[in-house]
Amino acid sequence: TDGVAAVTRWLRACADEFDARREELDALDRLLGDGDHGTNMCRGFIAAQTLDLSELVTGAEALRQVGMALVSNVGGASGPLFGTYLLRIGAVWPLHPTTRAVAMATRQGLDGVMARGKASVGDKTMVDAIAPAADSLDLSARDGEDLAVALEKAADAAEAGALATVGMAARRGRAHLLAGESVGVIDPGAVSVGIIARIAAQSLS
Ligand code: ADP
Ligand code: MG
Ligand code: MG
Repeated sequence: TDGVAAVTRWLRACADEFDARREELDALDRLLGDGDHGTNMCRGFIAAQTLDLSELVTGAEALRQVGMALVSNVGGASGPLFGTYLLRIGAVWPLHPTTRAVAMATRQGLDGVMARGKASVGDKTMVDAIAPAADSLDLSARDGEDLAVALEKAADAAEAGALATVGMAARRGRAHLLAGESVGVIDPGAVSVGIIARIAAQSLS
C-alpha cells in the first residue's frame, strides 16, 4: 500500500459510510440507548475530514489525527472509545503494513478500548466486533496470509461478531440499563466496527 494515501482513503470512505448510515445507527441506539450513535460517528469522522491530511507523511499520523478528532469532537462513550481505538492503532502503524503488523495494531486497539471502557467479550459492545477481528488477524498472520485476504476475513469476523450481539444482554454502556431487555437488538457500536473493518478491507490493500 502507499502509506498515507491508503489510510486517508480508508478514513474518508468511513466518513461517507457513516453519513449514509447515520439514521440506521441512530435508530438502533434509540432501541438500546439515547439514539445518537450514528450522529456521533458522523460528527467525529466529519470533523476528521476537515483535517488537512494531505500535509501528513505517514498513515500512522493520519490515524492519530483522526483518533484525536474523535476524542475531542464527540461526547459520550463512543468518541473516547473509537478515538482510543484509532489512536492505539496509529501508535504502532508501520510505513508498509503487513498482515502481522495490522494484527498487532488491531490487538493494541482492542486492549486500549477494553482498558478504557472496562467491557469484556460478551458484554454487547464494540468489543464483541473488535475481538473476533483481532483473533482472525492473528490466525492470518500465523498462516502467512496476504494482507488483502487477512483484511477480508477480519471484516467478516467483525460483522459476524456484531451480529452475535443480538443474542447478548448488555452489561456496559447505556444499554446495560435495559439488561435482559436489550436481547434481540444488534449493538450499534459493534455495527460501526464492522463498517470500519469492511472499508479497511476495501481501501488498505
Ligand atoms: P453514548 O452511549 O454515550 O450515547 P454512542 O451511542 O455513540 O455513545 O455509542 C454507544 C456504543 O458505544 C455502544 O453501542 C457500545 O458499542 C459502545 N460502548 C458503550 N459503552 C462501552 C464500554 N464501556 N466499552 C466498550 N464499548 C462501549
Ligand atoms: Mg448513544
Ligand atoms: Mg449519547
